[in-house]
Amino acid sequence: MELFAVPDLPEIRKGDDLAAMVDERVDLREDDVVVVASTVVSKAEGRTFDLDDFLASPRAREIADRLSEISGEEKDPRFAQAVLEESTELIMEAPFLLTATRFGHVGVNAGIDRSNVPGGDLLLLPERPSESAARIREGLAADRVIVTDTCGRPFRHGQRGVAIGWDGMPASRDWRGEHDRDGREMGVTVQNVIDELASAANLVAGEGDGGTPVIVVRDWAFGDHDGSDSHFREVEGDFVRQALRDWNYE
Ligand code: GDP
Ligand code: MN
Ligand code: MN
Ligand code: MN
Repeated sequence: MELFAVPDLPEIRKGDDLAAMVDERVDLREDDVVVVASTVVSKAEGRTFDLDDFLASPRAREIADRLSEISGEEKDPRFAQAVLEESTELIMEAPFLLTATRFGHVGVNAGIDRSNVPGGDLLLLPERPSESAARIREGLAADRVIVTDTCGRPFRHGQRGVAIGWDGMPASRDWRGEHDRDGREMGVTVQNVIDELASAANLVAGEGDGGTPVIVVRDWAFGDHDGSDSHFREVEGDFVRQALRDWNYE
């Protein structure tokens, strides 16, 4: 397989047709996977806001006060309000805000970003990233699209790219029922390929001023496996998430 960045993309603005911009710059093949950083999807979809767009509730002020106290830095209650409005569940409120978004993704600050955003405004994640992926795919010569974000993870330092939306391919390869080298039948392995492709693409995209938000993955085959579209865990089966809800930062 090969990965390369779509060259010469400009600063993306509200209303831009990302699919057309990519198609103009790359001779895409049908089986390419086009991996798009959510930052530019959000910009195109007009998900840029000003702190003043959010009116802090008493709850947001309480959260911001606590976070300010812990970090020793003044935290803006309007930012906490933005996070609350983007979220369906507050999983941790200190020492940082960990929430679930409407579309099922769990992340710090509901994925609200201030890097690579002109004027230091707030950039919210796309409302429905898989629907964004489907819209982008419609305008492309390629048949598979993944929308990514950069996220931290528990248990490990550092951040990496993850998939938050996808269209035109299953989220996972289901190896259950296939055999290992010893002939043993695999009972649990479901390989999340959209996250793996998102990480690989993010490695090429970078995090800074590279200007390369769209990566093409060429000559990668899903292969002869069953597919599964499960990606975000449901609360019921997510024991780590349940444990975190009952945990309190001291
Ligand atoms: P995120 O991971 O979705 O939060 O996006 P990042 O802020 O990490 O940006 C990923 C890549 O996209 C980096 O190479 C940025 O320089 C680039 N990027 C971000 N916004 C734009 C834009 O509007 N236009 C272009 N050409 N590149 C951008
Ligand atoms: Mn981001
Ligand atoms: Mn990033
Ligand atoms: Mn293994």
